Amino acid sequence: MKKYVVIGSSAAGVNGIRELRKYDKDAEIVLISKDKDIYSRCILHEYLAGKRSIERLRFVEKDFETLYRVNWKKGIEAVGLDRAAKEVILDDGTRESYDKLLIATGSHTFFPPIKNMQGSPNMIGFRNIDDIEVLKEVAKTKKNIVVLGSGLVGIDCATGFLELGVKVVLCDFAGWLLNKQLDPEAARAYIDAFNARGVEQHYGVGVNEVKINDKHEITAVVLSGDHRCRPQRRHRHPLRLLRRHRRRPLQRRIPPGFRPRTVPLRTRLWRVRPDQRP
Ligand SMILES: Cc1cc2nc3c(=O)[nH]c(=O)nc-3n(C[C@H](O)[C@H](O)[C@H](O)COP(=O)(O)OP(=O)(O)OC[C@H]3O[C@@H](n4cnc5c(N)ncnc54)[C@H](O)[C@@H]3O)c2cc1C
Repeated sequence: MKKYVVIGSSAAGVNGIRELRKYDKDAEIVLISKDKDIYSRCILHEYLAGKRSIERLRFVEKDFETLYRVNWKKGIEAVGLDRAAKEVILDDGTRESYDKLLIATGSHTFFPPIKNMQGSPNMIGFRNIDDIEVLKEVAKTKKNIVVLGSGLVGIDCATGFLELGVKVVLCDFAGWLLNKQLDPEAARAYIDAFNARGVEQHYGVGVNEVKINDKHEITAVVLSGDHRCRPQRRHRHPLRLLRRHRRRPLQRRIPPGFRPRTVPLRTRLWRVRPDQRP
């Protein structure tokens, strides 16, 4: 009887197990995962928004473990591999032997190398259930959240936060949101919808630096082109900003091929005067 070890209890690992069981009815299957639950990352925003419980994120049968006869070691990290001995080394100091090994450990959040950002306690990814638990706590006290990236994950994240009543600021290098999926004209509908829900949006700007306090917490992100948005301060009224800042010419934001009528006019883009720069 063969022994299969699968590392990772998400889409790849689970479907790998389903296939393995089809072809080998007798094998011993051991599943090892850092995750303590099997959940869909695609609907994590609904968990953040409080619309779903962890049970309702689950995409496998209730009796998955008995149905597929799986010995699931949950909440355990594989920290090494002894290929000569055919063993997986686990973070609890034990080892798991295998005949065949499936590594289905997925990916992880990429935090860009932004000045001052690495190691900050309020730099949080949006990928694992643990991230969402932290974000839920954050949303209870912080009323201004900056989301870097307006791709599918950034949009999910912003949507989840909106349900919690926090102010969301969305920033992206690209000239419009979902720029890999949508052209500027189609994106306009989403930009308008986010504007209507009070999301402050900055497109065509990069974040090169964050400002931190003495606890290494991020207090502001500095946008290229001298924009700055503060993650922890309540949003000030636009008229106050107008008095202090000069509006940036829209032409400088229009990416090649972007037709003027599609410019998101209601997107607020402000420029810091040279004497106010950090
Ligand atoms: C917010 C968000 C929204 C998404 N929305 C969509 C969508 O709408 N449509 C779509 O098609 N895709 C979506 N995706 C992508 C989709 O979730 C991934 O493609 C999918 O989860 C990949 O599955 P995976 O099994 O390869 O890896 P992952 O889901 O990353 O799972 C990896 C597994 O490995 C475990 N693991 C990792 N390292 C170790 C270790 N050292 N030891 C033990 N266990 C370990 C983890 O605990 C986890 O169980 C979204 C992703 C995110 C983050």
